[in-house]
Amino acid sequence: MSYMKALKCRECGKEYPKEALHVCELCFGPLEVVYEYERMKGVLTRDVIEGRAPNMWRYKELLPIEGEPSVGGQVGYTPLVRATNLATALGVKELYIKNDAVNFPTLSFKDRVVSVALSRARELGFTVASCASTGNLANSVAANAAACGMESFVFIPYDLEQTKILGTLVYGATVVSIKGTYDEVNRLCSEIAGKYGWAFVNINIRPYYAEGSKTFGYEIAEQLGWKTPRHVVVPMAGGSLITKIHKAFKEFHTLGLIPDNTAKIYGAQAAGCSPIVNAVKEGSELIRPVRPNTIAKSLAIGNPADGYYSARVMRETGGWGENVTDEEIIEAMKLLAETEGIFAETAGGVTLGAAKKLIESGRIPRDESIVVSITGNGLKTQEALYGKLKEPTVINARLQEFDDLVKAGGREYAVKA
Ligand SMILES: *Cc1c(COP(=O)(O)O)cnc(C)c1O
Ligand SMILES: [Zn+2]
Repeated sequence: MSYMKALKCRECGKEYPKEALHVCELCFGPLEVVYEYERMKGVLTRDVIEGRAPNMWRYKELLPIEGEPSVGGQVGYTPLVRATNLATALGVKELYIKNDAVNFPTLSFKDRVVSVALSRARELGFTVASCASTGNLANSVAANAAACGMESFVFIPYDLEQTKILGTLVYGATVVSIKGTYDEVNRLCSEIAGKYGWAFVNINIRPYYAEGSKTFGYEIAEQLGWKTPRHVVVPMAGGSLITKIHKAFKEFHTLGLIPDNTAKIYGAQAAGCSPIVNAVKEGSELIRPVRPNTIAKSLAIGNPADGYYSARVMRETGGWGENVTDEEIIEAMKLLAETEGIFAETAGGVTLGAAKKLIESGRIPRDESIVVSITGNGLKTQEALYGKLKEPTVINARLQEFDDLVKAGGREYAVKA
């Protein structure tokens, strides 16, 4: 049974049928899925959710499909790790990592949005899956389309990391690499979507797609024992994920699944692409587009579709925005790996780097619960670390050479006789 009611314009409130629509024809505002929460009350309870399989479809009543999910049945329910070593390093009391670096099947949070988008696209009769991507979305569309028997066309900026390109091609997707920025890719794709009638997950299917991000927030609240943290730090590209984590907490509160909703939400961007953080820091409602220049390519969107709404989430919850340089991104990637054994991609370096600055500046108090959102896997952005780590020591396979190495390093070990 589906609780999805309609699509609704975020600006003027006009309602639309549940089709492949994404902008309001009256005011050009973005459309959003609305649900029948009253009918859901008492049906979607903590017990019902806890009794279901550990994947993001345990919240299916709050997701925009009409039948059962047909794509990505095992996506989500990634670990929420209590990060005690990192907490010590940062000087805070209660710190968690929500770790979508190990999401299934393509190791980023994009598997959430894609499984919803393609499940819905199939209900609407589409047979071709498509997207404009900064990398992770490309991987996920290609993999999930392959698994459900859809054809896929993926559009990317030409200068993405090698693993993100290879990790799209391997699934048999047709990859079109565009000489331009993501924003130029996206503009072209809007024209293609209108002309070819494909399911562009983040264009004409966007209202459904974006809802998948809510599951990141639901899981945080459930895994904390049915409550929100006091502070959540979230990376921003187009700015959709941060608004949907906010929506997730609000919905859980509406349904009585959590007692209150006091989470302050903070957005993180790279200094080389921070149109949203700039607006928050300037206290402006206006998002000024930028031309991206950063190693955090997955977040390199200069003209973010949900920039306005994400700035509002930070303002309304009492959060803030912070940005970090490429050097700080690398430092944070290393810090997370060395303290918690989690290898996050550059976007994770952005998020942790921003969290660190927010703690140091006193914006986030040291004695309250903090969740850092890790959204992608470091194995996909290895280029960022080339030349930034200590090289391996090369020796011949002789014990004496190893002994010399230990001595030269000034290390003493008790050797068992
Ligand atoms: C796409 C992406 C984001 C941000 O997504 P938006 O919803 O566009 O803000 C964050 N992290 C990673 C790794 C991503 O690929
Ligand atoms: Zn409207």
